[in-house]
Amino acid sequence: MTMARKKVAVLGSTGSIGTQTLDVVSREPEAFEVVGLAAGTGVDKLVEQALRFRPSVVSVATRELADRAAAALPDDIRVVCGGEGLIEVAAGTGADTVVCALTGSVGLASTLAAIDAGAAIALANKETLVTAGHLVMKRAAEKGVPILPVDSEHSAIFQCLNGEDRGAVRRLIVTASGGSFRDRTRDQLRNVTVEDALKHPNWSMGAKVTIDSATMANKGLEVIEAHWLFDLPYEQIDVLLHPESIVHSMVEFADTSVIAQLGNPDMRVPIQYALTYPHRRPSPAQPLDLIKAGSLHFRAIDDERFPCLRLAYAAGKAGGTAPAVFNAANETAVARFLKGELPFLAIETVIERVLSRHDPLPQPDLGAILEADEWARREAAALFAP
Ligand code: MG
Repeated sequence: MTMARKKVAVLGSTGSIGTQTLDVVSREPEAFEVVGLAAGTGVDKLVEQALRFRPSVVSVATRELADRAAAALPDDIRVVCGGEGLIEVAAGTGADTVVCALTGSVGLASTLAAIDAGAAIALANKETLVTAGHLVMKRAAEKGVPILPVDSEHSAIFQCLNGEDRGAVRRLIVTASGGSFRDRTRDQLRNVTVEDALKHPNWSMGAKVTIDSATMANKGLEVIEAHWLFDLPYEQIDVLLHPESIVHSMVEFADTSVIAQLGNPDMRVPIQYALTYPHRRPSPAQPLDLIKAGSLHFRAIDDERFPCLRLAYAAGKAGGTAPAVFNAANETAVARFLKGELPFLAIETVIERVLSRHDPLPQPDLGAILEADEWARREAAALFAP
């Protein structure tokens, strides 16, 4: 008797996490079947993936792009588009696991739809929990759907908590590489270019995440995400600078024991764990050689040096719509930096100003979250307008 293959749908299949997910899946064709793929505008890559993995449905951003994809694909692969298309791939393909790897707040509705459809969620989209953690975790609990973190830090914490008494957790210790500008002073950050910022020392990632990791906004989003995933107050979530990115995060328990998860930085490991949980399978990642690594370093985070992290904690503690505003202001500011409209240090200024003008609404529903998101984007786009 053979086991049924696990049906996997990938939202954001042409991005960094999506591509690596398909790499993991392709190594075990007897274990996984790809039933749906969704991308934004990367039609050529999506078509290539669809021809290789043969999902029943693919989705792209617009009708026009859908027509282009349909012309290149056989008739048995249905092509859909837009927000409805995403929901179709997330909830209409009978997927056992939906990998949510879209970038930005566009991932929220489709993730909720996948939860409603009863699929396990392999969550790589940070914004989903940052903007709507209270809705998503509640809905997942009601449906008995597991949220399996894909982000390396949260996967590490998830693994450290396996089989442990949650009541005995003293704190989570989220590690941060410090990004491409870790060793520069604030003065040296004044004139950095987009090209400088896109060089991440340890991980290969998309542009938005790479900039977020240089500003530490990424770590801020991860702290808020950890708050929701592991149901702990912000006072019990610490961030520690760890330049080597070998210790992916840690949990400290009541008896002072600290459990950590280590490995070479390779996203395919946490992606695979989310797909095979609770089982572990061989991986193409390089095994960790601690003798070669020699020494691991840890430093405290300087709040003044990385104000985006401080702002994220403040937004998280304020709760309600504040994290959505933090996220939207950051997304807009980063997009403007990437277009050359803003200097690097203006990213934090934009977030701070937009947050300071926002009066957070407690327990927002989806509509209120989207409204706060749109408001923050407008505000962030208007600041320092050329
Ligand atoms: Mg991370």
